[in-house]
Amino acid sequence: MQISKEIKQSTHEKVIYFHDPSSNLKAIIAVHSTVMGPSLGGCRMMPYLSEEEALADVLRLSEGMTYKAAMAGLNLGGGKAVILADPQTDKNENLLKAFGRFINQLEGKYITAEDMGMTVNDMEIIKKTTNYVTGLSQSLGGSGDPSDFTSYGAYVGIKAASKFKFQKESLNGLSIVVQGLGSVGFKLINYLSKYDMKIYVNDIDPEKIKKCISDYDVTPISDDEIYDLDADIFCPCAIGAVVNDKTINNLKFKIIAGAANNILEDYNKHGQILLDKNILYAPDYVINSGGLINIYNEIQPKYNRSTVYGQVDRIYDSLMNIFEISQKENKPTNKVSDKLAADIIHSKKESATIPVLNKFE
Ligand code: NAD
Repeated sequence: MQISKEIKQSTHEKVIYFHDPSSNLKAIIAVHSTVMGPSLGGCRMMPYLSEEEALADVLRLSEGMTYKAAMAGLNLGGGKAVILADPQTDKNENLLKAFGRFINQLEGKYITAEDMGMTVNDMEIIKKTTNYVTGLSQSLGGSGDPSDFTSYGAYVGIKAASKFKFQKESLNGLSIVVQGLGSVGFKLINYLSKYDMKIYVNDIDPEKIKKCISDYDVTPISDDEIYDLDADIFCPCAIGAVVNDKTINNLKFKIIAGAANNILEDYNKHGQILLDKNILYAPDYVINSGGLINIYNEIQPKYNRSTVYGQVDRIYDSLMNIFEISQKENKPTNKVSDKLAADIIHSKKESATIPVLNKFE
């Protein structure tokens, strides 16, 4: 017998807890908003310490997706799912298929995709029991790895930040630290290496550093050195919360612009301190929206890679607008971005037509 229980939340449209004893699936789907369209957001599988911890994570992440989609100009709302399990030991076909059945209960209000602990292969298994899944491999009619677009978007965002800060069209002569040489960071280096830049790289995996040194003209840098370095741009592409109480006082960068999620440990405090220190911060959910823009295109009737790149280019103007308002109103860029996103959603709420994606109908 499956247990499906709605958790009442004033901040979210719908939050459901699901337990399927036969597959041992315990999961929560949070739909923050469907004002702009069906909610889309990845599913994260993690061995959470408690259901409260999982709930807090899914509520926070799903709300972030609403703002991210709005700022990317997409007809999508914000949602997210978490599976309370260890991806190394607990993942199996039965569990993933049960998760697909759980998604069906939301009747299209939530569409899933990959996130931490999930892979493209897992999406293909979930697809056996639900149509509300995206981020599939190209062989199954999907668009493949979204990091091609996330890395391109990060590159576009770095150019916007450099233009605003240094009034320079080109990145020539600038220095940058790329932290994390995974799917996004490594591809980003390819764009940066076309310029006469000093590129520092950092990763906890020595093999990633080795490969990067053999392919590009880059200088490795240790974890300890990063936050004291006098470089123009810091580009976090690994973990979140790298701007925190321990690091922020030493930072000498002029720009922080990278693809990692939740770069600021304390959203309120650290955004304000970066403004006070005159460090230009590109809000993470705006600069890293390339992957979401791609997935959105995957669920449209026709998918065209070059059209997607054209849409990702809009990150440049979106960031410029945020930077200009931030300067004019002396407000942290992350707060300016939240306000713009909230305004977009509010104006849609007031208009009669709410977009519907009918690919899944
Ligand atoms: P990934 O797992 O492919 O790569 C992460 C890299 O960071 C790995 O090489 C890992 O060894 C390294 N790393 C981990 N901890 C580190 C640390 N403490 N210091 C230095 N390096 C460390 O991930 P990814 O897909 O490249 O994503 C990078 C970041 O961008 C993540 O925060 C992710 O949430 C975010 N993001 C990714 C996408 C996407 O399309 N992949 C989209 C939006 C946001």
